[in-house]
Amino acid sequence: MRLLVVEDERRLAERLAAGLREEGFAADVAHGLAAARDRSLEADYDLVLLDLRLPDGSGTDLLREWRTEGFTAPVLVLTAQDRTEEKVAGLDAGADDYLTKPFAFEELLARVRSLLRRRATPPVEVVEVGDLRFDRTARTASRGSRPLDLTPKELALLEYFLLHPGVALARATLAEHVWDADYEARSNVVDVIVGRLRRKLEADGAPRLLHTVPGVGWRLSIEPPR
Ligand code: CA
Repeated sequence: MRLLVVEDERRLAERLAAGLREEGFAADVAHGLAAARDRSLEADYDLVLLDLRLPDGSGTDLLREWRTEGFTAPVLVLTAQDRTEEKVAGLDAGADDYLTKPFAFEELLARVRSLLRRRATPPVEVVEVGDLRFDRTARTASRGSRPLDLTPKELALLEYFLLHPGVALARATLAEHVWDADYEARSNVVDVIVGRLRRKLEADGAPRLLHTVPGVGWRLSIEPPR
């Protein structure tokens, strides 16, 4: 899942992005409206954290603009303390939730995960494919009775495959949704992490779930490739 953090307080922005990356998200940062607008044209974000008070204008205006243009990703607005009118304006402009500063990172994380889960129809907490079980809240995965020891990035990648079962996902699609702007197009990091995830999924001789689709990328399926 790729997130955009729009926040002009640089230390806060970096702290949020670093915390989110530790949890396996891809996170880009924009310090103002103009940068946020540019970023949103370059990448297809799964969620945006939007500070409403930015040096070059109001986040509410950008949000309204995005919603008019059909930007549907969930937006969590960050507001100053005791600014009821700001929260109302944010929600009216199309925000899905808000958080009042200062906040605990754990709360932000819980709200981000909740918004991402709600986005799925129907909302899913636990995804199962064959004997693979993925708990989106606890961030754990298992095959049969065997728990999988996955890093946050591997969990994020597996989650993305599980949300698109049976679909051949291209390297570029995975790079866009699971990695952030620091991803280097020519690097083989996607292949490396897919390979590592596949080995962990197939430990103890478990049947293959991540199938290579020649010329495209990979597909998660319990069915063998045609
Ligand atoms: Ca601000």
